[in-house]
Amino acid sequence: MVLADLFDTALFLFFLRLWDSSQQTCTVQEAGTLLASKNVRVNCLDENGMTPLMHAAYKGKLDMCRLLLRHGADVNCHQHEHGYTALMFAALSGNKDITWVMLEAGAETDVVNSVGRTAAQMAAFVGQHDCVTIINNFFPRERLDYYTKPQGLDKEPKLPPKLAGPLHKIITTTNLHPVKIVMLINENPLLAEETALNKCYKVMDLICEKCMKQRDMNEVLAMKMHYISCIFQKCINFLKDGENKLDTLIKSLLKGRASDGFPVYQEKIIRESIRKFPYCEATLLQQLVRSIAPVEIGSDPTAFSVLTQAITGQVGFVDVEFCTTCGEKGASKRCSVCKMVIYCDQTCQKTHWFAHKKICKNLKDIYEKQQLEAAKEKSEEENNGKLDVNSNCVNEEQPEAETGTSREDCNPKESVEGEEERPQSEAGLEGLQDAPAGPQASEE
Ligand SMILES: [Zn+2]
Ligand SMILES: [Zn+2]
Repeated sequence: MVLADLFDTALFLFFLRLWDSSQQTCTVQEAGTLLASKNVRVNCLDENGMTPLMHAAYKGKLDMCRLLLRHGADVNCHQHEHGYTALMFAALSGNKDITWVMLEAGAETDVVNSVGRTAAQMAAFVGQHDCVTIINNFFPRERLDYYTKPQGLDKEPKLPPKLAGPLHKIITTTNLHPVKIVMLINENPLLAEETALNKCYKVMDLICEKCMKQRDMNEVLAMKMHYISCIFQKCINFLKDGENKLDTLIKSLLKGRASDGFPVYQEKIIRESIRKFPYCEATLLQQLVRSIAPVEIGSDPTAFSVLTQAITGQVGFVDVEFCTTCGEKGASKRCSVCKMVIYCDQTCQKTHWFAHKKICKNLKDIYEKQQLEAAKEKSEEENNGKLDVNSNCVNEEQPEAETGTSREDCNPKESVEGEEERPQSEAGLEGLQDAPAGPQASEE
């Protein structure tokens, strides 16, 4: 456990500088130069049995971790005096990206330290719940491939090998929106038929069972498998008797109730899936039921947000950043009329239009009211503030609003650019016919 020679020492002196915040000169480039030397062993150990990768992971240096892994750093090195691995250090540091990088590099999740704790357990112990979730949700392809070979007396594998790829894609998604899951199924002809879905959901049920019965139970992954399995079973029902099959299911999931457009069926499906979780003693199930049961349908939090938070660890779930249709994060195209809903793209807007058009007008009124109030507040603030400086601008509300660049001010601008990009969209067009009146009216 001692540095082998001067070259390793040089590398380590470099890594020790990671720990000293006053050293600003620590760059990935420098480390790259060091590692390029044939005489440096990337897996050398310091006096505590820590590798450079462990140091970088614990200090939250993502680029450094990537560099070391590229140079062959052993992600499962287990020489640390207390049995810590690089994954454990990553999870302890609370860095989600690094935790993910370690898992992708093949870090084993069931290795334990000298007191018998796994990386996930250690992270939970220090309150790094996001990292716990990442570790618990990670699902290596090999675990699915196991089912693509006949086991025991089986003549056929439980999962046809051609389905492993598409199914793995769905299993590893962090967007659990039922519409997104149905979309993922619908876009793959291999998956979007009864026999395939039947095989897939049975395999997911087996994985769920395994997660609950293994020594270190993984309730999060079990719940995720069960939930996706339930959505698959819904798809099977619709494939059996629906006319437009999965499109009908998507429509049912998006259809809003008359009073406020709330998608009741979607909410009910998610609640029902959670309730049907077969292991009623599971802590996670009890937690979910406690959070959802007292909530009236249509109020916050929705079953989707509670489930997402439990499974992906997303805290501070803000509707605005997510596509109204499929729940995908980072959606940026706003409805050109009401500016109150956001979509990934035209396809998602088009899919949702049949439901949205019923409430778009109402939302537009709400939006305009909000804008007016915001403008009023702003002008009051401005008047109270530097009156003498801007006294000649009192009536120029628009330029002030634009340079004010609060979030609300930016969005309408973006949406104007967005709407110009989607004139072909049927929904966009229908929406756009009213659009010219919309934004102008709100500014007058
Ligand atoms: Zn979307
Ligand atoms: Zn709208």
